[in-house]
Amino acid sequence: MIRIGLVGVGKIAHDQHIPAIAADPRFDLVAAASRSQPDLGGLPVFHDIAQMLAEGPELDAVALCTPPQARRETALAALRAGKHVFLEKPPGATVSEVAELAAVAREQGVVLFTSWHSRFATGVPQAKAWLAANPVRTLSIEWREDVRRWHPGQTWIWQAGGMGVFDPAINALSILTEIMPDEVFVTDAKLQVPENVQSPIAGHVDMTTLKGAAITADLDFLQTGPQTWDITAWSDAGELKLSMGGAKLTIDGKVVVDGENREYPGLYDRFATLVAEGRSEVDVRPLTLVADAFMVGTRESVEAFIE
Ligand code: NAP
Repeated sequence: MIRIGLVGVGKIAHDQHIPAIAADPRFDLVAAASRSQPDLGGLPVFHDIAQMLAEGPELDAVALCTPPQARRETALAALRAGKHVFLEKPPGATVSEVAELAAVAREQGVVLFTSWHSRFATGVPQAKAWLAANPVRTLSIEWREDVRRWHPGQTWIWQAGGMGVFDPAINALSILTEIMPDEVFVTDAKLQVPENVQSPIAGHVDMTTLKGAAITADLDFLQTGPQTWDITAWSDAGELKLSMGGAKLTIDGKVVVDGENREYPGLYDRFATLVAEGRSEVDVRPLTLVADAFMVGTRESVEAFIE
């Protein structure tokens, strides 16, 4: 039984972590830390990780569900206290801080898990297998959602380090780096940044691989009506489409997978396995692609974003 504490009890902790932990018999949620100190039905809730570690029940592991800007200090505190750490995506606000966390985890002999929930979407394993057998010539990502609907009041998204539209789009990049047999590189990007915030609200990213695949990503945070989380790939053998964030897979228009969302149960299953094996899983490739898009991307200032 892994005694686990949650840090940052906001939308994703409520929607996914708490139910997924409750449903997995290998975990026991014994404490939480969140500055607003929400009522979690009798669970001890502390103000922050320092108080949880000092005054709370004994823990084996900690899951960090804070925004990326608040991740590093909390993760370091947990690792230095000898706890296994599950990081929500993105694993940090910078690429280099994740390397620091990995080094501390090694020193401490504990597990660090950079979770990428979209990789656990139902259609992803079969998409990966198909792409391994059928080399991709062209791949298109369309990630368009309504920030007002999915991220109400989340001002951190618009601040430096919050990543703006890349907060959801990094999920597409996590699938991309999982299903492509070759490394992916950013070649160009265009970012649209509202004049009153620090992070992009829309963008376009061009990428390629060693084999010369042409990969594009079109990202928008202002799409109302139907939402689009699609990845379409073309090879000589036909067309593969992952839609609904990876839950549905069609090949040449024929539905191959259309499954229930089991992303977070899948993540906790992987974390339990890593803890049992004493093995970290640290993958920053999606975060590196975002960092590269920010480095090479031209910026266009657009209309202010008012929620
Ligand atoms: P959220 O609703 O804003 O919750 C984050 C919580 O972290 C807040 O409620 C806040 O609780 C705490 N926190 C600690 N330090 C903070 C700081 N400096 N600024 C703001 N909040 C701080 O955000 P979320 O949607 O749960 O997202 C958290 C992480 O999960 C992000 O990395 C996001 O990318 C990822 N994620 C989100 C979703 C989603 O659908 N929303 C899906 C998958 C992954 P206190 O004020 O009580 O401390």
